[in-house]
Amino acid sequence: METTSTFRLLDGKAISAAYRQDIAREVEQLRAAGKRAPHLSAILVGANGASETYVASKIKNCKEVGFESSLFRFPDTVTEAELLDKINSINNDSSIDGLLVQLPLPKHISVQRITETISPEKDVDGFHPLNQGRMVQNLPCYLPATPYGIMLMLEHEGITTAGKHCVVIGRSNIVGMPMSILMSRNADPGNATVTLCHSRSTDLSAITRTADILIAAIGKPRFVTSDMVKEGAVVIDVGIIRIEDSSTKSGYRITGDVDFENVAPKCSYISPVPGGVGLMTIVGLLKNTLRAAKGEVKFSF
Ligand code: NAD
Repeated sequence: METTSTFRLLDGKAISAAYRQDIAREVEQLRAAGKRAPHLSAILVGANGASETYVASKIKNCKEVGFESSLFRFPDTVTEAELLDKINSINNDSSIDGLLVQLPLPKHISVQRITETISPEKDVDGFHPLNQGRMVQNLPCYLPATPYGIMLMLEHEGITTAGKHCVVIGRSNIVGMPMSILMSRNADPGNATVTLCHSRSTDLSAITRTADILIAAIGKPRFVTSDMVKEGAVVIDVGIIRIEDSSTKSGYRITGDVDFENVAPKCSYISPVPGGVGLMTIVGLLKNTLRAAKGEVKFSF
């Protein structure tokens, strides 16, 4: 079969840098107008290596664009009540604009209770049901950071989504489900015809082969193989999986949901892992925090 072989890389490093520069410029403008810098708080529970890395990267990015940030650490023995207290005190602290609680949490803590206790006005991860409900109705809200980052990536690269068939694999509340909503909304990017696939979908390959835009958010290394992809498709890999690798210093390496080497030659665009969506998630988070600081999303009338 003839292959495209001239695919373009959706370079998260370059695209996120461009957005971060715009954000930094806006922070300067806020400060020049006598306002304080946006302030993001993060809560980190336990000592999960991946979570440590994600939170450190979020804090570093805050610094780079001129945001204030604060990190609250708790041991994995923390009680749910203690965490809820901390969330409530941050909710009531007018010097903090955005709050995220890094997932996963220990099993004795209800993710739903934590998510719903964060004030929707500070919910810069976009996980609160009020924000997700507003997203569905195309109303002002904080979009979940990863799907938001992907939309910004598509917008930056001028990729047409209207009228295209978009297949999303994965239906989590934080990636797959909101991704399918955003791609189908009457907006630009958006206006795609969307199929949402999941672990109970049958004949997945037959569906994915009809995708103009294929978004994989599964968490299974190299799950999407070249026979599942249409010639010329746009492929976006959300997966971040740590694979043991004794040849690296850390003892592991990061891979995605897509068999990049074999899929890329068939694509018009493809995002790499690492260096793709992960960096855009941080942009989504920073943009939400900036919007929070500017009071752009109102929850009371
Ligand atoms: P999840 O485990 O909550 O959801 C996985 C989804 O994959 C489920 O909806 C399930 O139905 C689907 N699935 C599983 N096996 C399948 C199969 N055989 N066929 C079809 N569908 C199947 O995961 P999540 O939180 O959405 O994360 C998915 C991946 O994305 C993970 O690797 C995660 O680390 C990564 N992630 C990356 C970012 C980022 O910034 N790049 C952000 C969040 C999550």
